[in-house]
Amino acid sequence: MLLGSGMRTQTTSYFARLFAGDLSAFGGPVTDEAVAGHIRAEQMSLVLGYSVGIMLANACNAGVLVVALWHSPGLKLALIWAAIVAGAAIAFGLQSHAARRITKPQFVSRRAMHRLVRNAFILGAAWGTVPVAFFADASTGGQLVITCLCSGMLAGGALAFATIPIAAIAFTAPIFAGIAICLGRNGDPAFLLIAFLVVVYGSVLLRSVFVNSIAFARRVMRQIEAERTVRQDPLTHLPNRVAFNETLDAALKRLALSGEEFAVLLLDLDRFKEVNDKFGHPAGDEFLVQIASRLQRCTRAAEHVARIGGDEFALVMANLARPEDALEIAERFVAAFDEPFQIEGRQIVGATSVGIVLAPRDGSTQLDIMKNADAALYRAKKAGPGTVCFFEETDDRSSRDRKALQSDLEGAIARDELFLVFQPFLDLDGNRITGFEALLRWQHPQRGLVPPSEFIPIAEETGLIHEIGEWVVRRACATVAEWPEEIRVAVNFSAAQFHNNGLLQIIVQALADAKIAPHRLEIEITESMLLSKYASAASVLNALLELGVTVALDDFGTGFSSLTYLRKLPFSRIKIDQSFIRDMLVQPDCAAIVKSVIGLARDLRIGVVAEGVETADQLEYLHQIGCDEVQGYLISRPVSADRVLALLETKKLRATYAA
Ligand code: C2E
Ligand code: MG
Ligand code: MG
Repeated sequence: MLLGSGMRTQTTSYFARLFAGDLSAFGGPVTDEAVAGHIRAEQMSLVLGYSVGIMLANACNAGVLVVALWHSPGLKLALIWAAIVAGAAIAFGLQSHAARRITKPQFVSRRAMHRLVRNAFILGAAWGTVPVAFFADASTGGQLVITCLCSGMLAGGALAFATIPIAAIAFTAPIFAGIAICLGRNGDPAFLLIAFLVVVYGSVLLRSVFVNSIAFARRVMRQIEAERTVRQDPLTHLPNRVAFNETLDAALKRLALSGEEFAVLLLDLDRFKEVNDKFGHPAGDEFLVQIASRLQRCTRAAEHVARIGGDEFALVMANLARPEDALEIAERFVAAFDEPFQIEGRQIVGATSVGIVLAPRDGSTQLDIMKNADAALYRAKKAGPGTVCFFEETDDRSSRDRKALQSDLEGAIARDELFLVFQPFLDLDGNRITGFEALLRWQHPQRGLVPPSEFIPIAEETGLIHEIGEWVVRRACATVAEWPEEIRVAVNFSAAQFHNNGLLQIIVQALADAKIAPHRLEIEITESMLLSKYASAASVLNALLELGVTVALDDFGTGFSSLTYLRKLPFSRIKIDQSFIRDMLVQPDCAAIVKSVIGLARDLRIGVVAEGVETADQLEYLHQIGCDEVQGYLISRPVSADRVLALLETKKLRATYAA
């Protein structure tokens, strides 16, 4: 029983494939249904292309037949036959002409192909009746016309259905059958020769149809493959930016045509670059592949997340009923990162932020939608990993604001709007100031004082950081030259600055121009700088260290905090991030971290600075646990260069603060 039903399904599916024009039924290439549907669309489009001409030929041939049989007894029947065939042909021709004007579909169902094969058979059968019904009673001339018409229809049919063998067979087989019946009834040996010729022509025709259709299918498959590569991200196999733009375009067209609303979700991975840099590109790639598959699982069946940039993903949610639906998917995206990723035997934690725009509410052009999605995403990222933000009017303002700030920053050095302030380091044992950190300030003519947290990222994004960084180091060196010999100056460097090959030269030149000893300059870098991406950073830093410049690891504890960094370079100092100092007297784990970092620094024989000391209690505690130096508002806020000397004059600082 089981076997029987199994076999039946197999045969059914074989016939289904056969009548759907599927070439695998004839030993052609095997394809999945999506590709088969696409091939059918191409086949159908070709047939529809010929159909008007073919239908005209049918109507015309039917007329010719009537004329040829004008004096034969079968005229009445021929007239009825011709009226039906010509009428059906004209109707079908007009219908397919109309169908062709609608845009070419990408997929045609099996059912549509079945209908085509059925229609081909009906038309073929109509022509097959001609030799059977009219040949015997026709005059010699009439017989000649019938022979010509049948041959013409055979050849024309094979040509029209050259890419669909089953339709070619459905059309020509009844005509062959009609000819065979007609010739068989007649004993004339000449007709045997005709029969022989018909068989030869028929075989050649069908053989050409097979060869042509298989070549055609292969060509379409190659084309599909080529189009797929253009639209697919080779790493994650998700649709790429090209495909995403097409989907967005289609959604915008539907919006214009029928008012169908949609949402665009834009995702940016948090700290992906750090993962890439820390664990290497193969691990970064694997990370992306796993993320892609988790994201894809969060969407609705028919929708695909696209990878539109290195660590940027996007989704068009068509036919959006409620904004909450978009929020739900965005929250699913965020939740997809709850579990850590297993990569090369390690557990890696990831996160994403999501910006959502609703169309048409937030825009109805590609440009507006993507710009606003970016703005929403920017706010989401600022709010921290795993945040979802809908676009708001204020985002637009803040993104315009950012652009304005960027163009103002371009001329800031030339207009002398940048200046440095200096914040002291206090040595706890000696109770004296050992140096100052140079902190950059921007006095904007309209906005007033712009904090570095706002303009340094813009400078980094635009590359202005190189020019600004050079200005900072030159100015810091020139300023420290005026201070006592034992006082150092610390200058912050962005990772991006190490992309500049001339950086070493700039620093050497700044030291030379200011005529200061290299050990008076300290460079502050953060952990992200030491990652493999900035391989050149290590060589520049080593060269600086050889020169005698010291290097401090800033904001220690906020990055990957891998202790291996401490082995990579001979740091002269670690700066414990202010977040630990702020909480160390209220949170025991912070105190434990601070204590162990100080212990570690002591064992490694490197200095340790506590950043952000604001209270006397913090200062006292840090002194007790053996911290070398402190920096913070308690000691002094950053001051202008001309107040530095006065600050140095102040004696017994710690005693004053501790009191
Ligand atoms: P940073 O290097 O960690 O600098 C310390 C920041 O903490 C400074 O902020 C400083 O004013 C602030 N601070 C110091 N003591 C206290 C305190 O007791 N409490 C609190 N709440 N804050 C304190 P600022 O000047 O706004 O600088 C922020 C960041 O901007 C710096 O962090 C540094 O990463 C960056 N930056 C500043 N100047 C430059 C520069 O010239 N180049 C580069 N690349 N980055 C710079
Ligand atoms: Mg710093
Ligand atoms: Mg810091």
